[in-house]
Parts: sequence; structure tokens; C-alpha cells
Amino acid sequence: MARYTGAVCRLCRREGQKLFLKGDRCYTDKCSVERRNYAPGMHGNARNKKLSEYGVQMREKQKAKRYYGVLESQFSDYFEMANKKAGMTGENLLSILETRLDNVVYRLGFAMSRAEARQLVRHGHFTVNGKKVDIPSYLVKVGDVVELKDGSRSLDKFKGALEANASRVVPKWLDMDKNNVAKVVAEPAREDIDLPIEEHLIVELYSK
Ligand code: SF4
Repeated sequence: MARYTGAVCRLCRREGQKLFLKGDRCYTDKCSVERRNYAPGMHGNARNKKLSEYGVQMREKQKAKRYYGVLESQFSDYFEMANKKAGMTGENLLSILETRLDNVVYRLGFAMSRAEARQLVRHGHFTVNGKKVDIPSYLVKVGDVVELKDGSRSLDKFKGALEANASRVVPKWLDMDKNNVAKVVAEPAREDIDLPIEEHLIVELYSK
């Protein structure tokens, strides 16, 4: 399945909530959810019709995929991984998604959105344990060190992003020092993930 390349604000309007896919704009009154909080399309205003149980579960999965910018096949692979791990499958799923390198870059404040973080990783700006990694889906693990590569450290865009995101709280499973070198100190726990996702609905969907 191809990556969605349409207007991302439509995705938020489809879910009826802000998914913060566009960076700065999401925090202003230009946000489309603030201005037009109904689903896109001709029948958008009919979104309030009651969804079936399956529909509710499906929407929750779509929402999670959209938050993290993950395709259907990748998402189902993550679910399989989560299912094989000890513990709660839904929490494992979110924990795995959080450890994607593009999400880590976003969480550390190097990018205004996960989409931007994905692009920055692809452009080879980051290293993991001293080696360039340009794969956004790379999953970091405890002990990994993530940082900008030497040639990217002085770029204004990163200085600007870090300043603009200074008020964003870096989750406690990541420890960033004053030189902007981050270490993964734990696996992300559910309480570290501030997204309004009801992961049990996704588990129910895949259990059918
Ligand atoms: Fe979603 Fe951001 Fe667009 Fe608002 S501005 S609809 S939060 S992507």
C-alpha cells in the first residue's frame, strides 16, 4: 500500500481530533480541526452517526497508524512483534512504535512533527551508536545513543527546532544531555506515551 500523500489535515478531520501531523500549524487557530471539526467529504457532517464495534476498533487502528505515519503492513508486523512479547499486547505495540527512530527524533525535539523527523532521518542527519542510520523505522533499544551527526550539529534548522520545542517534555525513557546526545535508558512504558489511543480496541480488532 502506498504512503498517503494527500492533505494531512484531512486525516485529523477524519479522526475528529488533532493528530499533530503538521508541526507549528497544529498549535495555532489555523488548525483545520479547530476551524472545521467535521469529517472531510460530502457527507462529513454525518460523522456523528454511530459506528459499529468493528468501525470503532478500525478507527482506533487508523488513528495509531496516522500518529506514527506507519503503513498497514508495517503496522501489522509491529502487532505481531507485540503479540510475541511478554506483557500486554496493546502496550507492547505502542512501546514498539515509540522506539522508531523517527519518533525518537521527534520526541527529542529535533523536528516539529513525526513527518519532518522521518524526512530528517532519511536525509542521514542522525547516528545511532556513532553510525549513520537513515532508516526511519529503525527500532532503538535500551543503551542506544542517538545524536546528530557531526556535519549536522551546527545547522540552524536543528538549533531552531530545539529552541522552539524547548517546552516539550522529553519522555523519561530518553535521557538527553546538554550536548543534545540522547541515550535510551528504558523501554517506553504506557504512562510515558501521551497519545489518546485506546490500544485495547486495536488488540480486539486483530483478535477477530
Ligand atoms: Fe491535524 Fe495539525 Fe492539520 Fe490541525 S494543523 S488538522 S492538528 S495536521
